[in-house]
Amino acid sequence: MNDQNIEAIVRAVLASMQQEKAAYGAPAGAAPAAAVGSIPKKGRVAVLTKPGNFEVREYDIPEVGDDDILVKVEGTGVCGTDAHEFKRDPFGLIPVALGHEGTGTIVKMGKNVTRDSAGNPVKVGDKIVTCMIFKDNPDITTFDLNKQNVGGADVYGLLPDDDVHLNGWFADYLFVRGGAFGSTFFNVSHLDLDSRILIEPAAVLVHAVERAKSTGILRFASRVVVQGCGPIGLLCIAVLRTMGVNQIVAVDGNPQRLAFAQRMGADEGVNYNDYKGGIEELAGAVQKAFGGKLADFGFQCTGSPVAHSNIYKFIRNGGGLCELGFFINGGDATINPHFDICSKELTIVGSWVYTLRDYVNTFAFLERAKAIGLPVTELITHKFPLSRINEALETNLAQKGLKIAVMSDESLADQ
Ligand SMILES: [Zn+2]
Repeated sequence: MNDQNIEAIVRAVLASMQQEKAAYGAPAGAAPAAAVGSIPKKGRVAVLTKPGNFEVREYDIPEVGDDDILVKVEGTGVCGTDAHEFKRDPFGLIPVALGHEGTGTIVKMGKNVTRDSAGNPVKVGDKIVTCMIFKDNPDITTFDLNKQNVGGADVYGLLPDDDVHLNGWFADYLFVRGGAFGSTFFNVSHLDLDSRILIEPAAVLVHAVERAKSTGILRFASRVVVQGCGPIGLLCIAVLRTMGVNQIVAVDGNPQRLAFAQRMGADEGVNYNDYKGGIEELAGAVQKAFGGKLADFGFQCTGSPVAHSNIYKFIRNGGGLCELGFFINGGDATINPHFDICSKELTIVGSWVYTLRDYVNTFAFLERAKAIGLPVTELITHKFPLSRINEALETNLAQKGLKIAVMSDESLADQ
């Protein structure tokens, strides 16, 4: 830390003390909603104005109604979805405030807000995350909804811009709208900041493993192959390890990622670049890693059509497969239905996002993973301040590091 940093911090602390004094000095009953500290008139929001360019704009912070929550953002993970949107706006959302893997502190909330979407009490000062927005389908707002796919729901961070503007987590403040808007959120004050930033991607894996369990094939002693060791594949391994699966082989082309996979709980890593002799040779390496047997179950965690075609060859007759790598349309994959599905009697499930129930299971997963020493929070390799958000997205697109985070509280960014 240099002198300039120290000076900046001292100035910030002094300023906040002044603000606090002012807030406490306000006449009682003046504020309609419970609040902590003082809330500025305006907050920064990173708005994607054209592909490849975020502009950090300032917007008025709206009045907090009886059912609304104002969150001071701490940090937000950069998702593959954000990266795709940054690169070429495939969802046609520009101008848009992105960022859905965020967490922060409730600084103000309406009098009707007393509990989160799991029924747990919330108060000003608590740390929260948002989950799906179910405004188009009120039936789905019930808590137990494993039975229903939530593919059509919205999230904060992928909403069209409107007069509220504070719609994404890449911002100083997020405005969580109450009532018929259909917002869901959870009190996660018991989790550390880095774990909270990883909740959304981890929930994708908790859901995928639930889908895999529905086949009846994934068991305690199953041999499981996980293909792809980006954040999703690595979290998959950690979830499997945490639930007691202990024969896991990871497949990837990057030796560092394979080494990390082993720290996350994989027994062996197979680098496909070492097997250029075709898929039979690669499948042979996976089989060897399992002591001469093929996998009982496979998780396909890449967006590569070739990888999808390959994974069938790693799985035994009567085995199972969960495909979760294609978060966007990555094109068609070629398989041989006779050899790959019919004669093998393979059971295949697809997995897409998560449910509210998966979110709550994810909180428990993150605590347990930490307790058994899995380096889950080391997935966050970069923390950029909000003012350098373009660099954060470029770093993600260059596939440097693993999980990139954008810190709205800039004191939490890498120095
Ligand atoms: Zn995401």
